[in-house]
Amino acid sequence: MKLASRIALIKPSPTLTIQAKANALKASGRDIIGFGAGEPDFDTPLNIKEAAIRAIHAGFTKYTPVGGTDELKDAVIAKLQRDNQLTYRRSEIVISCGAKHSLFNVAQVLFEEGDEVLIPSPYWVSYPDIVYLTGAKPVVIRTRVGDGFKLQPSQLEAAITPRTRAIIISYPSNPAGVCYSRRELEELAAVILRKGIMIISDDIYEKIIYDDQPFFTLASLSDELKRVSIVINGVSKSYSMTGWRIGYAAGSEEIVSAMTKYQSQNTSNPTSIAQKAAVEALNGPQEGVGVMAREFQKRRDLIVERLTAIPGVTCLKPQGAFYVFPDVGSYYERGDRFEICPHKVIRNSAEMATYLLDEANVALVPGGDFGHDDHIRISYATSMEQIEKGVERIRLALLKLKY
Ligand code: PMP
Ligand code: GLU
Repeated sequence: MKLASRIALIKPSPTLTIQAKANALKASGRDIIGFGAGEPDFDTPLNIKEAAIRAIHAGFTKYTPVGGTDELKDAVIAKLQRDNQLTYRRSEIVISCGAKHSLFNVAQVLFEEGDEVLIPSPYWVSYPDIVYLTGAKPVVIRTRVGDGFKLQPSQLEAAITPRTRAIIISYPSNPAGVCYSRRELEELAAVILRKGIMIISDDIYEKIIYDDQPFFTLASLSDELKRVSIVINGVSKSYSMTGWRIGYAAGSEEIVSAMTKYQSQNTSNPTSIAQKAAVEALNGPQEGVGVMAREFQKRRDLIVERLTAIPGVTCLKPQGAFYVFPDVGSYYERGDRFEICPHKVIRNSAEMATYLLDEANVALVPGGDFGHDDHIRISYATSMEQIEKGVERIRLALLKLKY
């Protein structure tokens, strides 16, 4: 069978692959600690579930407008006004089947062969592949641990060529939990505006932010920035609704109507019932969001303390999202260790993730998939007890390699 060459350009989502593998091992009876899953471990709040159940009973089970119901668009408009001081009209909003779908659609309508799209690393695993599928070239800008994995204005400037169309930026970031202050964003914005490129701002972790830091999306800093931005967000992370598949994009009418046209020829509307649930998520009580973020912060404190106590492991303290991205490169292949443990030489993050799964029954994602091979990604969207147990297993497995 001959498949289209386009499919060879991409790999299966590494995060979803690890999660599926961990689930299969658990189902087969192995005592796996799952640090792979990129989703909150909390249940979807009851008021949101009830809204969906009401929608089913009311027969709200048919096609809706392709780009989402007016009711949900209005809820998104109110959210963007309330949280981000951004004013949009209905014609500037499109609802899709998750933020991943919104990102995919916006890339499809904006990019093509010959274009370059900037992606600061460490990046979320899907950005390069989403760009590859448009025919454009993802250009990775490697940020430095010494800069807190933050993109520097000089790095941004140096990466921009006449072919550069846009930057995909996301904070708090997956995998390192990096956040930017308003001042840092203004410095990046000055370069973006001077060079005339677009911004795709993936704000999916906006609400999972620590130590009382404020969140600013770039579009909210000025009208000029709003004009060149597409804001992507969704309900997956903030409301623990990963399975409901509702995301959205806000941007110029020209881009949003192109995305809606594109969507009309692939998925049609996002699920009607899930749209009703998302209206309740955005318009209903918001207290649960803060409760979840505070719980994640406690887990962050615990996991960072435990990981950095392991000899040779270093780790930035995440400022948001629910991942840590420790550097375990000191445990990769070294002559002295080779003599002690010749059958267990680890050369890269993929081998490290396999070793930790086989040896320690801990599932996590190789850092190489996020562009930094000395690292591994651990999702701490799990209980404090599992965190303690899982990190202890990692510690013992690593020490076996080195000593
Ligand atoms: N952006 C980032 C940075 C993510 O980690 C994820 C993970 N799911 C998404 C977008 C997509 O979220 P969803 O499609 O569930 O809305
Ligand atoms: N975004 C999550 C993660 O990084 C969920 C899986 C995915 O869509 O990549 O693990």
